[in-house]
Formats: sequence, C-alpha cells, structure tokens
Amino acid sequence: MAEKTQAELLKEQLFRRDKHACEALGAEEIAQGDAFCEGYKAFLDACKTERESAAWLIEQAKARGFAPFEEGKIYAPGAKVYVNNRDKSVILAVLGRQSLEAGTRIVAAHIDAPRLDLKPQPLYEEKELALFKTHYYGGIKKYQWTAIPLALHGVIMKKDGTAIPIAIGEDAADPKFCVTDLLPHLAREQMEKTLAKGVTGEDLNIIIGSRPLLLDEKSAGVKLNILSMLHEKYGIVEEDLISAELEAVPAFPACDIGFDRGLIGAYGHDDRVCAYPCAMAAFDRERPEHTAVAVFADKEEIGSTGNTGLEANYLYDFLVGLAAGQGANPRKMFANSKCLSADVNAGFDPTYPSVMDPNNSSYMNRGVVLTKYTGSRGKSGASDASAEFVAWVRNLLDEAGILWQAGELGKVDEGGGGTVAMYLAKLNIDVVDVGVPILSMHAPFELAAKTDIAMMHKACEAFLGN
Ligand code: MN
Ligand code: MN
Repeated sequence: MAEKTQAELLKEQLFRRDKHACEALGAEEIAQGDAFCEGYKAFLDACKTERESAAWLIEQAKARGFAPFEEGKIYAPGAKVYVNNRDKSVILAVLGRQSLEAGTRIVAAHIDAPRLDLKPQPLYEEKELALFKTHYYGGIKKYQWTAIPLALHGVIMKKDGTAIPIAIGEDAADPKFCVTDLLPHLAREQMEKTLAKGVTGEDLNIIIGSRPLLLDEKSAGVKLNILSMLHEKYGIVEEDLISAELEAVPAFPACDIGFDRGLIGAYGHDDRVCAYPCAMAAFDRERPEHTAVAVFADKEEIGSTGNTGLEANYLYDFLVGLAAGQGANPRKMFANSKCLSADVNAGFDPTYPSVMDPNNSSYMNRGVVLTKYTGSRGKSGASDASAEFVAWVRNLLDEAGILWQAGELGKVDEGGGGTVAMYLAKLNIDVVDVGVPILSMHAPFELAAKTDIAMMHKACEAFLGN
C-alpha cells in the first residue's frame, strides 16, 4: 500500500468525516442493535396512539418497580417513580445519588403522532355509504392518507364516566376503514391542482359501512345500521361520540425495509423512535449520579398545547414537588439540569436532495443527529442550544462510543419545524435536540434505520448515567 501523502494525513487529523454505522461499529454491536429494534417494532404495533403509549409505559414501569409519585414523600437514591398525566403523557424518574440542586438529567420525547381525528359529530350517510368526518391532527400531506387501510383507536366516554376503549383494525380478522381517492380516469381537474389542494381536509372522510339496517324487509339506512351495531357492541348512542377521542391511524404493522433489513418502515416513528429508547434507558437506571427523568409528552405535533403538552406545567410541578421533598432549591435544580429533547430530524433523501444542505443534513445509519437549533425563517421559534452545551453533549457521545452526526432541518428558508426543546429551555434548563433521522416524516409510513435507533438508546443511557 502506498504511503499516505501529507495532505491525506492532515485531512485525517483536521476534517470531520461522518461514518456509516457498518463502518464504525462492530458486527456484534450491529446485531445487538437489531435485536433491540425487534422490541421497538413490537412497541410500535402495540402503541399507535398517545393513550396506548402512556398505558404501555406505565405498565412496563410498574413491572420494573416504578411507583406513582407522591408529593411530600422523601425518596432515597434509586427510588423509581412515575407520573401519569391524564393517561396521555407520562414522566418516569429514578432518583439520583446527588442532591437535586446538582441538577437532573432529562430526556423528553413525544408520544403523539400525525393522524386523522374524528370530528365531534362525525357520523353521516350519503348514497347508502356511512362515513366519519375527520379533522386531521398535526402536519400531514393529505393525499397520503387516502386509499390506505386505517384502524380506529381511542376512547369513547359516556356521561356516567364509563370509558370505552376502542382499537379496531389491527388484528387480521378485524375490519378496517378507508378514505377514498378519485380514480385517475376522472381526476383530470384534481390532477391539475397542487398537491396541497388535490385532497382537502374536508375530503378526508372515512368509509365505515355500506349495508343498511333492514326493518320490515325495508332499508332503514346504513347510518342506523352502524349505530345499532355500535349500540349493541358498546352500549353507545350517537351523542356519546361527542365525548370521544377516536383517531384513525394506518392499519399496517411495522416491518423491515430493504434486502438487508437495515430500515424499519412503520407508522409513527416520529416520535416513538425516540420515546422507546428513552423509556428503555430510563427503565434500566439503578442509582444514577443525577436524578434521571424521562418525559413522554402529548400534543407536540400541534404545538405542545393543552394540559398534556409540554407547554403545560406538569413537568415543572413534578420537579418542584420532587425538590420540595428534599428541601432542595428548585431554581438551582432547574439551572443545573440538562435535557436531551429526543425528537426526529429529516434524513437526507436522495430522491429529494434540493431541499437539503448536504453538509448540514443527517443521513440514515450515521447515528443520532445532534440538532443545535430548529425553527424557521432565521431560527424563529428555535431554542438554539449554546455552544457550551453542544460541546458537552459531543464529548458525552464520543466518550460513550456513540455514533452521531450534526444536522439541520433542511435548507435555510425551505420550511422548518420545532420540537419540545423550547419548553424545556423556558424552565431554565440546558437543552438540545438529539434524535433519529427519518425518511418520509409525517407520512402514514415512515422509515428509520435500525443502527440509528440503537445509537439513540445508547445515547439516552449515557446521558442519564448510572
Ligand atoms: Mn417529533
Ligand atoms: Mn413531527
């Protein structure tokens, strides 16, 4: 082999070069990561909504010795607690050896995902088809939600407080639901519209039935038939749908993508692809140096609003309550706390390179993506982590042997987005986005790389410490 030139040697010393996981990691580590992802796929299939994710998190946490947080109780290092915020967001914490005034370590992911929510009065019949009107949730490209099998998940609350959980369309034997699209033969006008207008929000109507109720051998309508079936099965009447949260989500399971099985295709990687690694890392903390906290928020996709989104005070209240138990100064605790806002970023897609700055994009299989800032139009709405904190995180990841890359969400002024980072920053906590690159983000079927998911798990473990 020829000797390296001076230029080559100097480049090796000075240039940063991102590496593919297969180059950077050993075969054994890749295999371990693939095994971790089998658990992740099962989680994706079991938890398609924030409610299902919250229930899963609490069930798993309880099985691992986590108990409901009690304000005023004095917790010893290693104590494991959880907070269930209205069955839609969850906090897990493992008490650290140091005083809370030394700060906590927080990983924050979200467990809501874009979908089609039912309107409060969804049910109608037209030309002997029964349909549900929907109001989409989060940023979607509406045309992507037509002509695919959908499942219905959620809860119907009766006036007496009875909760009727719903999950229809996941078992092979279950019926499924569907938004129709126009046949190309008659789509001349539709095809001339922009993608944004070809299918509108009011077009996202879900077919739920086609057979009428027969009374005295005469049709009494499809709507009546559907309501009769719902009444028989769940004891509900039409008005009960007003106090329901029913979400139509893709009805297909997670699967491997590619001959080499390197990617996972699934609904709702954003942000369960970070929530699962955060949870698994939190579950395994024993007596960490700093109190380890994992937050699983709702409502991120619509701006972290509402009392289950991170704009609300429940994380603040929990941490202040924890500090009170120790007699710790909560302001010192917040000022010394650090957070990884665990959310996805857009992976570089070779089919759509024009929206990306190739030197500032994240790539599949190059590890977790460190995103200093998000936002749009000149970083507006971004948390923009400090150089000091980014340096600290870089060092942490390198010391733990974690493959990572630096990325931005697309070219300047191409669009933009946000995460929960700003709501942690508001508490006077150092925060930066670290997550997994995704292809087809917010589509009904998103792609993520197994090695990146495994790196995310390791990153959470290293950050939360032990
Ligand atoms: Mn997200
Ligand atoms: Mn999102």
